[in-house]
Order: sequence, then structure tokens, then C-alpha cells
Amino acid sequence: MVLVLQILLVLLMIILAIIIAFRISRKKPLRQLPANYKELLHDYVSFYRELNEEEKEEFEKRAEQFLSAVKITGVNAEAEDLDRVLIAAGAIIPVFNIHDWQYINLHEVLLYPGAFNYDFDQHGSDRNIAGMVGTGAMQNVMVITKWQLRQGFINSNDAHNTAIHEFVHLIDKMDGTMDGVPEIILERKYTERWRRLMNETIEQMKMHGSDIDMYAATNTTEFFAVISEYFFEQPLLLQQYHPDLFEMLQRIYKTGNR
Ligand SMILES: [Zn+2]
Repeated sequence: MVLVLQILLVLLMIILAIIIAFRISRKKPLRQLPANYKELLHDYVSFYRELNEEEKEEFEKRAEQFLSAVKITGVNAEAEDLDRVLIAAGAIIPVFNIHDWQYINLHEVLLYPGAFNYDFDQHGSDRNIAGMVGTGAMQNVMVITKWQLRQGFINSNDAHNTAIHEFVHLIDKMDGTMDGVPEIILERKYTERWRRLMNETIEQMKMHGSDIDMYAATNTTEFFAVISEYFFEQPLLLQQYHPDLFEMLQRIYKTGNR
């Protein structure tokens, strides 16, 4: 009788060990991303395509975290799987090397079909309203148009990407002011140099024109967002034509070692 009990006990412990091992080995499924997320990221996001396997996994994990924290709502437009994946990609690309980053100032992204001119405050809207970061009652909300979102990724080397642009505004806004100086990620000793470099470049753009989109010359806030699009879409060109800007953006986005 004692022997039978002992055997039963051993069996029970083995079963328990198997269950625990199975639970540990099983990866947490990515619930927020669609089943074909790897395919979508690969086909549409050139930044992702160029990562190594380990980095790709990190990117997917971050996209998953983003989508579980931020609601994506279609307004007169359907938020399709591709749109959700692209919004998450736009969020992660600028902060990919800032590992503990969270968009605590964002709760919801509203996806509009095309240009929107509805009845909310359009202050702070971009480029004939391709996207905007909400203020006032729209605090913590980002608005982006589906068409611009997709174009930004389909044309991946034209230095334009509306999603990246809007997320850079959010990064800039995190320190309390949207002024083109992201004090939360840029070391204090560089903030003056960055501000000066932005203002000098804006002056030069106004006098001589530039290969940088002239929308950047609106003010330092827009300059930072536009030059960041350039940095993430055409880094080699930016490095060649504007080495000082390139170097400072590497410092801001911690991309120097990649
Ligand atoms: Zn803008």
C-alpha cells in the first residue's frame, strides 16, 4: 500500500514538472497583431526588413505592446490589419533604440479615410491635415489619414512618412513642450546646440531653398518632425548632405551603434 502511494506521488510530481516546463517553454502569443503580421511588416516596412532576426523579434514584441496600450479607431474608415501594423511600426521606428520607451501621452489613434476637416480643433494640424497630434479636448489622441499612413510606407525612400512625423511630435511633446527639442531623450548638454542647428538650418532654407521639405521651415517643431522622417527614410542621403543634422539625430535616437 505504501509502495502504491509512493508510485502515485512520483507520477504526480512528474506530471506537475511536465506542466510547468510546458508553460515556461510556451511563448506568449501575440494577440494584438494579426496572424500574418510578419508578412505585413516584411512587405511594407523597410526598417523592419533590414533588422536581423533578434531585432525583428524585438520589433514585433514592441509593436504588440504598443497595440495593447493604444486603441486604434476607424472614423468613416475601416482600421484594417495593415493599418494597425503600420501605425505600430510608425510608433516603434523612432524609439526602437530607446528600450524602455512608452507613449504615455497617447491613448487612441483615430484613422480617417482621406483629408479630414471635421469639427475638431485643427490647431497643430500638418500639411493640409494628413495627421495631427491632439490638443485640448483631443489630448492623448492622434489623428492620421489612412491614405497618408499607407503612402508613407509604400514609398519608403522619399523622406516622407506621416506616421513617423506624428509620433515624433509625441516624443517632442513628452517633456511638456512641443518645440523641436525632445528633452526627455536628448542629453541636456546638447539641447542648445540642437536648437541652434535647427534655427540656422531654417534660416538657410528660407534664403536658399533646400532638399529638405520646405514644410520643415515652418518652425522648429515641424523641423524636428520633418527632418526625422528624412533621417529614418533616407539616412545615407541625410548623412551626405547634412552631416551635422545627421550626427545630432543619431544622438537623439541612439542609433549610432547600429
Ligand atoms: Zn507636424
